[in-house]
Amino acid sequence: MTPLDKNQLVEKFSAYAPHVDTALLIKAYDFSIKAHGDQARASGEEYFIHCRSVATSLVDWKMDLPTVCAGLLHDVLEDTPVTAAAMTAEFGEEITRLVSGVTKLEHFQYSSRDDVQAENWRKMLLATAQDIRVIIIKLADRLHNMQTLSYLTDEQQQRISHETISLYAPLAHRLGMFQLKGHLEDLAFQRLWPQEFKDLEAKVNAQLATREATLKKFKESVEKALAETQLPHRILSRSKSLYSIYGKMQRQAKPFEEIQDALGVRIITDNIADCYALLGTVHTQFKPVAGSFTDYISIPKMNLYQSLHTTVMGPDGELVEIQIRTEEMHRTSEYGIAAHWRYKIGEHAKDAHLEEKLNWLRQWIEWLQDLKSPREFLDSLKTDLDLHQVFIFTPAGEVKSLPAGSTPLDFAFTVHTAIGMACVGAQVNNKMVKLDYQLKSGDICKIITRKGSVPKKDWLMFVKTARARSKIRSYLREKGIVA
Ligand code: MN
Repeated sequence: MTPLDKNQLVEKFSAYAPHVDTALLIKAYDFSIKAHGDQARASGEEYFIHCRSVATSLVDWKMDLPTVCAGLLHDVLEDTPVTAAAMTAEFGEEITRLVSGVTKLEHFQYSSRDDVQAENWRKMLLATAQDIRVIIIKLADRLHNMQTLSYLTDEQQQRISHETISLYAPLAHRLGMFQLKGHLEDLAFQRLWPQEFKDLEAKVNAQLATREATLKKFKESVEKALAETQLPHRILSRSKSLYSIYGKMQRQAKPFEEIQDALGVRIITDNIADCYALLGTVHTQFKPVAGSFTDYISIPKMNLYQSLHTTVMGPDGELVEIQIRTEEMHRTSEYGIAAHWRYKIGEHAKDAHLEEKLNWLRQWIEWLQDLKSPREFLDSLKTDLDLHQVFIFTPAGEVKSLPAGSTPLDFAFTVHTAIGMACVGAQVNNKMVKLDYQLKSGDICKIITRKGSVPKKDWLMFVKTARARSKIRSYLREKGIVA
């Protein structure tokens, strides 16, 4: 994506926010150019091109005026002599707060690189808990840094790519920003495992023509079936990131040729009732694969994602994954949390339920903040962001999602803090297990509690989630058992 210049930015912003005064945007643009002066990027280009790129992504995601201004200004506090006070005087508190949120700590007296990384993440997440737009700006910043990585040393490229693939991409996923997540992953994948990337890319490209022909045929037969319903709809094909295919190969320990990568289509319609009606038509026409149907419309994912998922058998026996959703759900699935900050034409109010939907993020950040040791903080951050979740059932049939590797204790704390605190044992699928047992998807877990029982120090050795860890630790600290 070519970074837009001042007029283009204003024009593109005004196209989706026609009634907003853009004077501040122009001011931020000019201010940032001047502040960065003749600083250069590692590529030799003027530094300001980076600021323009970040603002371009933010306008692309249709973010509001303070966010775009903060995008232009995002490196001013970190890299120029301009102070927060001076910025507040020019741009007010809201924009300055956003910029401060993405600014790294200035003086660190920490010994290792891990400590520095942990402290910077801690600071940024704290700012994010107060204002989610901080992380959106940070992700736009990371995207451009990944796109211009080749000018850095090998060691820097590796380090930044690792951080991107283990923290930023999963975070984008958690925020529902799937497009960005795939993009970040493939950029990092290419740096970290160049040979694997090239091989896989060649193999995927070699299959492309056949897959597209099959998909085209399938889409035509779906189209024929759906046309009779007269329900409004459009059909899109779906492509997977190379890294997600690679991840599947790794998890299943199979070569590309043996990976069952189903074809994917999306059917977009106008309202929820039509989603179910279209699903009915699809299932009448094509045999669904048993157990493949999931209703994320009535039970949305934590990252706000909604869709109906089903896998059916196509006319030639091929498996096709189908996602059915409304236009609004589709936007949310592409832009995630960013979609909720977008200007809605003719509407002033932001999503009324946004605050409620963001509660899990705030709560999670709070637990993380409790973990004082940088190691513990980073480990918990990575574990909780791990995309490979397991789904565990309570004896009453309620489902909880936990990071892979979670134990009955993590589960107990997810159900309720009091249950975790008083836990003395666990049954999985009616058998007693140890508290460090690794739960598998589909397990039914029953927690045994005893009144007056308290957390044990050795629990810290095996719990996985920030929630459990933070609750156990604060109890032990209160009792003076750990520091
Ligand atoms: Mn930057």
